[in-house]
Amino acid sequence: MTSIGILGGGQLARMMALAGAPLGLRFLVLDSVADACAGQFAPMVVGDYTDEAALAEFASRIDIATFDFENVPAQSAQWLTDRVPVFPNPRALALTQDRLAEKTLFRELGIPVPEFADVADRAALTAAVKTIGVPCILKTRRLGYDGKGQFRLRDDRPETLDAAWAALGAQADRTGLILEAFVPFEAEASVVAVRGRDGEFRAWPLTRNWHVDGVLSASLAPAMFPADIETLAVAHARTLAEALDYVGVFALELFVRDGKLMANEIAPRVHNSGHWTIEGAETSQFQNHLRAILGLPLGSTRMVGHASMLNWIGALPDAKPVLAEAGGHWHDYGKESRAGRKVGHATLREDSAQALADALQRVGVAMRREEQVAPVIEALKR
Ligand code: ATP
Ligand code: MG
Ligand code: MG
Repeated sequence: MTSIGILGGGQLARMMALAGAPLGLRFLVLDSVADACAGQFAPMVVGDYTDEAALAEFASRIDIATFDFENVPAQSAQWLTDRVPVFPNPRALALTQDRLAEKTLFRELGIPVPEFADVADRAALTAAVKTIGVPCILKTRRLGYDGKGQFRLRDDRPETLDAAWAALGAQADRTGLILEAFVPFEAEASVVAVRGRDGEFRAWPLTRNWHVDGVLSASLAPAMFPADIETLAVAHARTLAEALDYVGVFALELFVRDGKLMANEIAPRVHNSGHWTIEGAETSQFQNHLRAILGLPLGSTRMVGHASMLNWIGALPDAKPVLAEAGGHWHDYGKESRAGRKVGHATLREDSAQALADALQRVGVAMRREEQVAPVIEALKR
């Protein structure tokens, strides 16, 4: 029986383990906290990603390794690669861990990106704001997620630059910093795609995403954008996957502005914007990730109808309004409530855009989540 090791034991690892069960797969999770939510479904090795003893025990009990967490130190990924097959490869992981390297690659591959500059110190921040202009965003190059490690500059007054530096300057040595132009986008989208060990590439329908305070709030698939945008977005994802010799599922996050695309970042793993694929697509992102890394035939990424995913942040609401829907599906990650934490999600799937808008309306009212569903309903009606 094949045993898959997952570095990181969050909800992504948990959903991977659930998706792998029908394939007869076994899982082992490595996480630094003993109550990681994937541990409810898979045995665990508790230890830090840099702890060689923990890594050695982990490696000795698995046939192949993958990630639920993209910020595993590159040295740890390399250490594992010397012992077991690891997908995606450590080079792809290292590159996508660093926003500067990632954006440089986008540019080299001809994929449009917002203007950006490396910010090594306070003087470099002044220079970068001058070149890029405002509004702009200062971000840590590494270790950011869910909008953490970001500071938005609305103007270029010295006080504003000082505030940005006060917020993130202390991290400059550890994580590096990057300044990016703020994109006044009309929409955000993501391509969730998979590439097999033999190079076969498949993408799910383009997904539209809404963020609140830098955290994903809702997704809609298909995104309902013009076909040429979707074709181009998928072409960019494929170009990247081939350049990185990527194996497994990844997401390419994009901004849409004036009918054009700009790349934001790559997540080198299954992605929150692909959770709707569990019930909304022929094959889920989780199952296809496992098939890809194992060298099995990839499943179809076709979807039927329209799906929307709603994230539950902080605490889980009452599930009943979602469960009462014919196309309603509930996911409780088994986590304790905590402000800003992703604790679950729901997916609604319907055959038509109108039926999905109606279902979202009912759920939004019953759960008092009108604000969360409103932009999705608006997009469906356009
Ligand atoms: P994730 O959880 O997706 O990994 P992250 O912490 O890596 O998030 P980003 O994806 O860079 O952060 O930013 C989070 C959100 O903040 C984006 O989805 C977008 O809504 C907004 N944002 C980030 N960069 C920009 C930008 N340059 N212009 C406009 N909005 C931006
Ligand atoms: Mg990110
Ligand atoms: Mg992001």
